[in-house]
Amino acid sequence: MSTRYKCVLLFGAPGSGKGTQGKIVGNIPGFFHFACGDVFRAIDIHSELGKIFCEYSSRGELVPDDVTVRMWAENLKARATIGFYKPKSDLLILDGIPRTVTQARIMEEHIDVLKVVHLICRDQEAMFQRLRRRALKENRLDDVDEKVIRKRWAVYEKETYPVLGYYPKDKIVEVNSLASPARVLDDILRVIVPAQEHHFAGLSPE
Ligand code: ADP
Repeated sequence: MSTRYKCVLLFGAPGSGKGTQGKIVGNIPGFFHFACGDVFRAIDIHSELGKIFCEYSSRGELVPDDVTVRMWAENLKARATIGFYKPKSDLLILDGIPRTVTQARIMEEHIDVLKVVHLICRDQEAMFQRLRRRALKENRLDDVDEKVIRKRWAVYEKETYPVLGYYPKDKIVEVNSLASPARVLDDILRVIVPAQEHHFAGLSPE
């Protein structure tokens, strides 16, 4: 079995701020942010995989598990090969994957999950607001249509939320996603900095 990448999962509903926070953390040496949705969006929409992605995401549905994990694993390996991601010194911050219990199971052979940061949100309307705003700003087709937003939320509750039950309770840390972005970042750093120090002690990020 190849080495399992040490990682922390950023977990939460669409619009909970995983991407915003993940991007900030990913700019700090010693952390590598890898968002499944970003990888999908970078694929040529005329390729076979690009067409599959458009078909599912435009309906607010998840891309099938086997295709997703294969694509994710190949891309991550490629980033390690070219040295963008340094598994020996970088703590991997995963965002948007695993999104189903099946994905979590398939990914066991690739990742060693140290912590799960659960960005909680008890106000569904606030999330919808964020998604609508993002749709306008980033031209995200999957968030333009109200029906698709609601579908994405329903898929999250049915297929993604149960992923939390897959990991031991002591690995899960709850963070209030409706606090100010700096507060959310602070809460996340309190989890991932000790994890990074503990597992990569003495290793220079360079
Ligand atoms: P958000 O950040 O709003 O939660 P993402 O950018 O992570 O959304 O994902 C956009 C779309 O990409 C999803 O609606 C889904 O169709 C597809 N996708 C992303 N990650 C996964 C995954 N792990 N499994 C299946 N489909 C995924």
